[in-house]
Amino acid sequence: MQRRVYLDNNATTMVDPKVKDLMDPYFCDHYGNPNSLHKFGTEIHPVISDAFNKLYEGINARNEDDIIITSCATESNNWVLKGVYFDKIYTGEKNHIITTEVEHPAVGATCKFLESLGVEVTYLPINKDGTISASQVQAAITPQTALVSIMWANNETGLIFPIEEIGEICRQADVLFHTDAVQAIGKIPVDVVRANVDFLSFSAHKFHGPKGIGALYIRSGVPLTPLLHGGEHMRGRRSGTLNVPYIVGMGEAMALAQEYLDYENQVVMRLRNKLEDALLDIEDVFVIGNRLQRVPNTTLISVRGIEGEAMLWDLNKAGIAASTGSACASEDLEANPVMVAIGADKELAHTAIRLSLSRFNTEEEIDYTIEVFRKAIQRLRSISSSYGA
Ligand SMILES: *Cc1c(COP(=O)(O)O)cnc(C)c1O
Repeated sequence: MQRRVYLDNNATTMVDPKVKDLMDPYFCDHYGNPNSLHKFGTEIHPVISDAFNKLYEGINARNEDDIIITSCATESNNWVLKGVYFDKIYTGEKNHIITTEVEHPAVGATCKFLESLGVEVTYLPINKDGTISASQVQAAITPQTALVSIMWANNETGLIFPIEEIGEICRQADVLFHTDAVQAIGKIPVDVVRANVDFLSFSAHKFHGPKGIGALYIRSGVPLTPLLHGGEHMRGRRSGTLNVPYIVGMGEAMALAQEYLDYENQVVMRLRNKLEDALLDIEDVFVIGNRLQRVPNTTLISVRGIEGEAMLWDLNKAGIAASTGSACASEDLEANPVMVAIGADKELAHTAIRLSLSRFNTEEEIDYTIEVFRKAIQRLRSISSSYGA
């Protein structure tokens, strides 16, 4: 069988087998609806409570009522933006949202939709460090601003945004603050109290939990109009029968993510750095943002003279899975805005390859990847009309 190396963990991750094992009994043995009054329902209560405990410990939420289960981070992001629209903008109180030009489409496209309803949206351009500074946010806030929505870590570059400082600015200005923390959970410590966030989104499948389940943290006392009205589940905040096995899975995935945080920052980071160092030894290979604050698993690499898509193809033939950027945007041939912002020339902007590791990658896989990269660069450059000409 052909060898397979998975280096696209920012798109999705393998479910940890321990997570899968814990979920298993809740499909055919303990399948009750926790809202039911009989034993099938009530026996689920401690299970749900245990999963919520793991979730709120993972982000240092004050209590389990602050975390609402959703179907994914896309839903969580939509909910915050549309909920704040209903609460503050539709009512005529405010009319402005601040976000960045490098958000995941779950935020970006929702903001575009809200613009079509008459909302004013500021898309902050990233600075030469590939992030947004707190002073940029401060300068953009007006008395009309209802919400600031800025990601914790970027899915393409892995660059970490100064969320604590931005949170402080928003708190002082009395503006609601949301962060999409999908790429931060399990990679860096996430603490909703220290970060002063009102809303925080995450998704289980980005940290070795199942796909199709996520959550939204809502700070105690902050109202948010529901997207899903119905049977008053989750204290009326998000109706729909609880997805018990997936909640169990997400809880365990969160607990494991905390357990492996040091491992991520030591072993996974060392493997990522080893890969980067070996590729940087090759002429005209660049790493985007490697001197800046990044999550430990991600590298965005640029190989002069080779289109990202061509490189992906060669890697894929050798069984290595990578990406040209966000999986949701890789069909988009626009130049990567992060690369443009940090000053890469236009030709380089089409050469980006994202490699994202996980705790399941081995040293041997990284050695193999380095070898495949070297050969692919040699081969593709030898047939490239733009390189060395
Ligand atoms: C993957 C991702 C999402 C979307 O998560 P889903 O669970 O697929 O909805 C949102 N934001 C970021 C930064 C992501 O990487």
